Amino acid sequence: MMKHTSRRSFLGTAASAVAGSAVVPSLVSAFPAPAVLRSRASKFAAVSSANGIRGVARAVELMMSGIDTLDAAVEGVKIQELDPNDNSVGYGGLPNEAGVVQLDASCMHGPTKRAGAVGALEGIKTPSEVARLVMKYTDHILLVGEGAKRFALSYGFQEVDLLTPESREAWLRWRANRGKDDDYLDVPRGEDVGARVTGTINMNVTNAKGEISSITTTSGLSWKIPGRVGDSPIVGAGQYCDNDIGAAGSTGRGESCIMVCGGFLTVEHMRQGMSPTDAALETCRRAVAMSAPRLLHPDGQPNYGLTFYAINKAGETGAASFYPSRYAAHDGNEATIRDTAYLFPRR
Ligand code: ASP
Repeated sequence: MMKHTSRRSFLGTAASAVAGSAVVPSLVSAFPAPAVLRSRASKFAAVSSANGIRGVARAVELMMSGIDTLDAAVEGVKIQELDPNDNSVGYGGLPNEAGVVQLDASCMHGPTKRAGAVGALEGIKTPSEVARLVMKYTDHILLVGEGAKRFALSYGFQEVDLLTPESREAWLRWRANRGKDDDYLDVPRGEDVGARVTGTINMNVTNAKGEISSITTTSGLSWKIPGRVGDSPIVGAGQYCDNDIGAAGSTGRGESCIMVCGGFLTVEHMRQGMSPTDAALETCRRAVAMSAPRLLHPDGQPNYGLTFYAINKAGETGAASFYPSRYAAHDGNEATIRDTAYLFPRR
């Protein structure tokens, strides 16, 4: 039978218990992870979306030669930003509905507890580098649009047309076929028409000193409304890093990641003692739970995709997604493509 306790006597009991430290052990055991993680040895490691297989190798190689964790991660993701064949990032990324490529990126440097980001940046191939400049040389965290471009130009970046012949053609096909009543005649559908193309690169790295950094860069959702930014430039959503715990980031439907502060939440799950894989999986569960009905099939499974990538201070890596997917990881010895943990088998 429950014993009735008045508010006054409860507070009195709690206060004296704290004073006498009777309740402290249970409070401490509710948050055991940081102490555990701090005591473990760190190592060179990196985790990223699958398109970062070359990037994780580059980042680990650079960190082993003494390069800072964030600088190494930037060099890793720049491989994709500069690759005209990666149509989800940087140069060659698919444009918005007006045919303009708008890029988003954000980064965090664990050791110095700093962050930088750019949103809807036009005409600059490597938004990751501009995000790092915002972090290093300003008292701000996020610059967007025209201001972000002017900021980049002031540091000597060249303005270029980010559309490749292939990404322009994909956009022209999409525009021609977008509606029955528009004024463009339909053309044969290319492979980029129809399903919305998403993609991005998120990378999280550690070195042997236990220093951690994270970065995410993207051209965002193809054919998006001009000015739309997703999760990638949002610190705490597209990526997050806490040098005491670990780092995490995401790819997939950015709006759904923002709804659960996905990068931050995954790091918080690791703070509570979860492995990187379990932490990412738990964030996937939360994202499904926070999905509006229109984003769910009748059986409750999501009609979109989201993947979270995580690394802890010990350099252990993992990733999880709604449906089976792949990611890239480097354990200090070699870079491999691995299967993500997942919530639902492929539909
Ligand atoms: N998360 C990115 C965005 O919503 C896109 C993606 O990763 O596919 O902009």
